Amino acid sequence: MSRPIIATVDQQALQHNLAVIRQQAQGAKIWSVVKANAYGHGIERCLAGLSATDGFGLLNYEEAILLREKGWQKPILLLEGFFKASDLALLDRYRLTTSVHSEWQIEALANAKLSAPLNIYVKINSGMNRLGFRPQQLKAVWQRLAALPNVGEMTLMTHFACGEDPQGVVEPLACLDDAAQGMNISRCFANSAATLWHPQTHHQWVRPGIISYGASPSGRWQDIAGTGLKPVMQLRSEIIAIQQLNSGDGVGYGYRYHASGEQRIGVVACGYADGYPRHAPTGTPIAVDGIMTRTVGRVSMDMIMVDLTPCPQANIGSSVELWGQQVKIDDVAQPCDTVGYELMCAVAPRVPFHVI
Ligand SMILES: *Cc1c(COP(=O)(O)O)cnc(C)c1O
Repeated sequence: MSRPIIATVDQQALQHNLAVIRQQAQGAKIWSVVKANAYGHGIERCLAGLSATDGFGLLNYEEAILLREKGWQKPILLLEGFFKASDLALLDRYRLTTSVHSEWQIEALANAKLSAPLNIYVKINSGMNRLGFRPQQLKAVWQRLAALPNVGEMTLMTHFACGEDPQGVVEPLACLDDAAQGMNISRCFANSAATLWHPQTHHQWVRPGIISYGASPSGRWQDIAGTGLKPVMQLRSEIIAIQQLNSGDGVGYGYRYHASGEQRIGVVACGYADGYPRHAPTGTPIAVDGIMTRTVGRVSMDMIMVDLTPCPQANIGSSVELWGQQVKIDDVAQPCDTVGYELMCAVAPRVPFHVI
C-alpha cells in the first residue's frame, strides 16, 4: 500500500473548538482564520467543520476564490488587504472584505470602478509596526474612506503584538480608544490570545486562528488545557524497524545519542521531509502504542528513532503519534524553539491527509 505516515483532520474537533470560541467570544461574531491553507490543515478539509462560523479570514486570493467556488457565501476578510490597485476587480467579483492599511489603497479605492461598494477594515498600527495607519491618522483616514462611493461598511481593526501577555493589550487598547474617541464604530481586534484572555477586546468581531485548530497561542499547551479546546490535527506513523542497542552504541547521524545500557529503540517512518522539525532534540515527546516516550538522536530526512523502554511490547507496525490528542503539538514545538503554528503549517506535501 503506502508509507504508513498520515495526517488526519478531525471535523468534530473543529466544530467543538468553534463552539468553545463562540462561548468565549460572548456574542462577538467570529472570523475563523484559515490563512496558510487553514494553518496547514487544508481549507477544503476544514470547511465542513467550520461551516457555522460567521466569516473566514485569509490572505491569498486563491484561497478566497476556492471558498467561493465551494459555495461559501458569507464574508471573507483579506487580512493583508489587496496588493495592487488592479486586484480590486477581483475583490469586487468575489465580494471580498479587505483590510486597508496604506495610503495608496485609499487612492486605489477612490479610483476603482466597482459593481458595488466593498466592505473594509481600517487597520491601525497599535504598536506592532507591521501593518496599519498611525492612531493619530484614524479620524482623517476614516472620513476620507467613508466619503468614497466604493466603500461600504467600515470596521476598525488592529492586531496585538503581545496578546498572550497579561498586560499586553492595555497600551494598544488605550491608544485606540483615544484615537477613536467619539466615534461610534464597529471594531475587530482580538486574535486567539485576546479572544481567550482579554475579553475587553472582543467588541463586534474576533479573529481566532490557532485555537480553532486546538493549539495554544502562547506556545504552551498548559495555558489552554482548561478551555476544552481539542487538537484538530493528528500526525501519525508506524515503527518500521527495531534495533537492540548495547551500552555505548550510537544512534543516527553524528551519533547524537548513545545508549547508556541495553536499550530497544524503534525506527519511525517520519522525518524532516515530512515536516517533523529537524531541531527536535533527544527527549522530544512522542507516543508509541498509546504510551508516552521520547525521541533519541538526530531527526533524519525520512526517519526518527524512539526509545522503546517504556513500551516493551511495541514492535514493527506499532502505531506512533508524532502529535495529536496524546502528544500535544505545543509540547513538540517547545523543545524545538518554535510554536505549534509553524509545525502545523509545515506538514510536507508528501504526507497524505485524511478527514475524519
Ligand atoms: C493570523 C492572524 C490572526 C490569527 O492569529 P492567531 O494567533 O492564530 O489567532 C488574526 N488576525 C490577523 C491580522 C492575522 O494575521
